[in-house]
Amino acid sequence: MTRMTVDSERLVRRLKELGSLGVDQDGRLTRLAATDADKLGRDLFVRWAKEAGLKVFIDRIGNIFAIYETRENAGTAPIMMGSHIDTVINAGKFDGCYGVLAGLGVIETLMAEGIYLARPLVVAAFTNEEGVRFTPDMMGSLVYVGGMDVEEALQAVSIDGKLLGHELERIGYAGKLDPGFLTPEAYVELHIEQGPILESLGIQIGVVENLQGISWQRIAIDGVANHAGTTPMGLRRDAGHAAAKIMEFVHELATEYNTEMVGTVGSIHFEPNAINVIPSRATLTVDLRSPKEERLLTAETALADEIISISNALGVSVRSETLARTQPVQFCNDIVDRIERVVELGGFKSMRITSGAGHDAQMMARLCPTAMIFVPSAQGISHNPDEYTPDFDLINGANVLLGVATDLARTH
Ligand SMILES: [Zn+2]
Repeated sequence: MTRMTVDSERLVRRLKELGSLGVDQDGRLTRLAATDADKLGRDLFVRWAKEAGLKVFIDRIGNIFAIYETRENAGTAPIMMGSHIDTVINAGKFDGCYGVLAGLGVIETLMAEGIYLARPLVVAAFTNEEGVRFTPDMMGSLVYVGGMDVEEALQAVSIDGKLLGHELERIGYAGKLDPGFLTPEAYVELHIEQGPILESLGIQIGVVENLQGISWQRIAIDGVANHAGTTPMGLRRDAGHAAAKIMEFVHELATEYNTEMVGTVGSIHFEPNAINVIPSRATLTVDLRSPKEERLLTAETALADEIISISNALGVSVRSETLARTQPVQFCNDIVDRIERVVELGGFKSMRITSGAGHDAQMMARLCPTAMIFVPSAQGISHNPDEYTPDFDLINGANVLLGVATDLARTH
């Protein structure tokens, strides 16, 4: 018996075709959520799903679900695949779209082969994953799992001053179904890595076992501006010096936790910002990420303590403000094991990996057993027109998704 495979030529062609829709006047691929460009992408996906013989449903937040069920398995909890087809500004063709189109390809393969499945298969395209036009990001999946009220989400105002609810109606994707209308038995998301690890190690498949939590803070330090030449070192209240101490502390803290944390001070601003004036004010941001919640909590506490001792020692006042905070997500061990088995059968190399970026899967993990599959991103580049994954890797990933979805849909 020959091994089932996803139609690779069709997958690659569709990625190209979807990626050609929504190019803005500057020649950049930009399909922000609920825009005319987004409608073009949605219409194409829906057309392909309907041509394949799938039933298509839209929920109130505009999430699209294409369902394949048979008389025998109708009504049982489905296996859901999916991702998103909205993009950032000047995007690549693969982020999100790959997971949606590969999911469709998986279903088409199983339909063509006439394989018996104990459960229906669904491919989902979630609304506003990127969060560029409306906040928060991952909105469609967040609403779907009950993490945000649908009415509140529909009232979200875009960067161009439009209500999401009106925009969804305008483009024809304000559905009737309540988000969460289907509770899947499992959710599997295939995605490009968007980082350099797999490519640099020559590994074809990343088995994503968890996703980092994120802690963002803005720290404002107030000291006293004074003459850089006449103010003795011991009499200064130097906001810049305090900022430097915090930067160093963040780096040391993350380094101490080794592979379990990364820490970055990515933005800093001094006032008055002059060569011969002691800074009166410094504002900086801190980005801490870890796959372990207790690590994030410990780091946040350590940073808060350090800030108090720095402000006492240097005579400055420090205020910190949380800008964003998400908890790490642990994916389902059983699905992670199944992915590894499928990869092994296919003869590819895999490694367990932590997702450094947010994905719809982190929301779906609140609703059902969930895991993700990564394929390499050339040079780790993403959210950029140079985003690229070779066809060979795209096809491997789709075939792993096929194996995992089949395995899950056949067993309970
Ligand atoms: Zn994505």
